[in-house]
Amino acid sequence: MHSIRRWLHLGALLERELFASKRTLHLPVADAVGSWCLRCGATVDGVSAPPHWPPYSCAACAGSSRPWTAVVRLGAFGGNWRDAVLAVKYGRDRRCGEQLGERLAEQWMRVFAALPSLRHECGSEWCAVPVPMPWARRIERGIDHAQVIAKAFARASSMRLMRVLSQQPGVNQAKLDRSARVTRGGRMRWRTPAFDMCGFLDRQRAMTVRQWVIVDDVKTTGATLREVAEVLRAHTPHARIAAAIVSAA
Ligand SMILES: [Zn+2]
Repeated sequence: MHSIRRWLHLGALLERELFASKRTLHLPVADAVGSWCLRCGATVDGVSAPPHWPPYSCAACAGSSRPWTAVVRLGAFGGNWRDAVLAVKYGRDRRCGEQLGERLAEQWMRVFAALPSLRHECGSEWCAVPVPMPWARRIERGIDHAQVIAKAFARASSMRLMRVLSQQPGVNQAKLDRSARVTRGGRMRWRTPAFDMCGFLDRQRAMTVRQWVIVDDVKTTGATLREVAEVLRAHTPHARIAAAIVSAA
């Protein structure tokens, strides 16, 4: 009985590895520009406001400063967006991750098309940087979800992708409560030459980047985005930083 179960498990694993990339997931329609706060990514209550730049603060972010210029998102965390994020993160569904990246690129362009003053302020030269994952977790999960999404995002929006950051191993973010997420810090690093010979040229070029867009799957407290933004700011002090996320919790 035990061996049958093991074979079934193996079969399921093989099926996932072989066919997951061929499945097409039906993603929901992305949020209209104006239905989320461009400062923090939270859903704007009530009727969608007309897109406006500079952005108004919402109730969630009023009175607080942000290290990024804008947050672009596809939708609120829940329903099909949640399923899609989990399919990439825990189901290793690369195709779904690529779809999310492509949709995020469309949404990014939609935001700039809707806001001429933002377009004028920022220009078009952006560099995508995925939120890094500790290597041990990458091995454990079999996928670096943010990188898969960021790669597709960068390709679809003709941006350069730069993996200039690494993350120190630590307690998995998903196992921490909200306050622990906000107070923890110091996990993100500018990648060091000893571990990344191929990234050397990237790092040199990275120092000249003027506009970063951090790509991630979910923004919960914003603590991870903040940490990433701080490291980018430390190495490229004059760069503008934005965030493109699949969903905001
Ligand atoms: Zn806000």
